[in-house]
Amino acid sequence: MVDLGRGLRNALAKITGAAIVDEKAVKELSKELQRVLISNDVNVRLVFELTKKIETAALDLSALKGMSTKERVVRVVYDQLAEMMGERYEPKLKKQRILLLGLYGSGKTTSAGKLAHFYKTRGLSAGVISCDVDRPAAYEQLEQVAKAAGAPFYGINKEKDVKKIITDALVRAKEDVLILDSSGRSAFDEKLVEQLKVLNSEFKPDEKFLVISADIGQVAGKQAEEFNNAVGLTGVIITKMDGSGKGGGALSAISKTAAKAAFIGTGEKLDDFAAFDAKKFVGRLLGFPDIEALMEKVKKITEEQAMPQNIEEKFTIRVFYDQLKAARKMGPLGNVFSMLGAPDLPKDMVQQSEESLKKFEVIINSMSKEEREDAMLLRKSKGRIERIAKGSGTTPDDVRELLNKFEKVSSMMESFKKDRGFRKKLEKMMKGKGVDLSAMGGAGAG
Ligand code: GDP
Ligand code: MG
Repeated sequence: MVDLGRGLRNALAKITGAAIVDEKAVKELSKELQRVLISNDVNVRLVFELTKKIETAALDLSALKGMSTKERVVRVVYDQLAEMMGERYEPKLKKQRILLLGLYGSGKTTSAGKLAHFYKTRGLSAGVISCDVDRPAAYEQLEQVAKAAGAPFYGINKEKDVKKIITDALVRAKEDVLILDSSGRSAFDEKLVEQLKVLNSEFKPDEKFLVISADIGQVAGKQAEEFNNAVGLTGVIITKMDGSGKGGGALSAISKTAAKAAFIGTGEKLDDFAAFDAKKFVGRLLGFPDIEALMEKVKKITEEQAMPQNIEEKFTIRVFYDQLKAARKMGPLGNVFSMLGAPDLPKDMVQQSEESLKKFEVIINSMSKEEREDAMLLRKSKGRIERIAKGSGTTPDDVRELLNKFEKVSSMMESFKKDRGFRKKLEKMMKGKGVDLSAMGGAGAG
């Protein structure tokens, strides 16, 4: 199973890391997206619609004027993914009644506590009502959840008549937001619909949220439809987005129904909960807070890649320096490297301080062309090292430090070149500056 976020980042990395983004590159991206999304249980038809749109828009030079092809592709992927995952739910910050419904174990009771916490942290008072009259201990479970959320709890232990429970609760409860936790069923059936109709007429909810666990994947769409037809939903809460490799499938399937995603649950704690926003969701998957930050990074990478590098070209001290500079410019954000499919750059190489990079630059500038092409010349002659140190205002030790680093990376490069399986990948990566170092890190560690 491919983690959705990592899968998407890796797929995009091939584009952001490529020197030339042509039709072939876009097709490859499209294939990779298909693989990632289908393994996330997104409906195959939806996936093909999505990638077709991406291919068309990415190759349409008249669209998104002023952007490079690379920027356009990233932008289109982001926009289309966000569109596929749904919209944005704006929680109403006012007095309201919320009914939670759904099958057993979907996360209703947990979500009741999370909702109470959500509205409380936004300045509203919130209370919860226990109406799960079927499951033993459901009363106690919600009581505990309410306590943890610091929300008043209403219910009548062992009472089976929900009408009675609701009437009693509505007389006593004075909170702005009232959240009702209802009975689950093992499947959608008539009995459940009957129960929900009673809740509907007695509680008169403003919001009717169906709670669905992400691990049912695209089946979520069918379930949302059934419940919506029977009782009229105002939204869906998708829980367990953290533990499931099918969250993308659940979200995309729901977005095709009349019931929209309202909240997502991302863990067991009260805080692991958010109002759903497709754009933010996709942004986070791609490792960026928003599209602007993402586009800025892509632009930067594009600039870094102005000079394509050929693997057959000798690995010289100049190439090494360019790589260091590129890696440094891309910043300390792990996200950037993971976007390039390179999560584990060797830290000591990347984290060159600005000064040591400057030092390297003056040292390299003091080398003859011949020396830059063949650093071994320096090892053979102490005189050359001293001359360079003098010429650059550094010490022979500084020059040797640069040489040591260069040689370390250079020997890694040699072993990669021998590894035929890795070679193709490296060749691709080398087309983008800054990526090559990461490749070294990966293999250096393993
Ligand atoms: P209910 O039967 O619909 O009321 O479901 P519960 O609220 O009792 O939840 C069932 C299980 O799912 C419990 O173990 C919860 O801790 C767990 N759970 C609920 N929401 C989430 C979530 O967003 N993430 C994770 N990891 N677990 C969750
Ligand atoms: Mg429950």
